[in-house]
Amino acid sequence: MAQAFKAFLIERGARLLKRVFDIDLEHCPRCGGDMKIIAAIEEPAVIVKILTHLGLPARAPPRAPARRLDLFEAA
Ligand SMILES: [Zn+2]
Repeated sequence: MAQAFKAFLIERGARLLKRVFDIDLEHCPRCGGDMKIIAAIEEPAVIVKILTHLGLPARAPPRAPARRLDLFEAA
């Protein structure tokens, strides 16, 4: 993948995290200074190894069962 396109995708991901989860990757949470993404870990095996080392779950939580939605409930 071209380096410029990869950088574009990383920046887009940072904007999405800010918009959806209000996670700001551009400003330091301690001093408010500018931060810059310098690397992205993409290898799943490496990600699992890091999360496991930190004691964090390496798998997504199970999906909740589908719920029935009664749109036309009799009143
Ligand atoms: Zn700082």
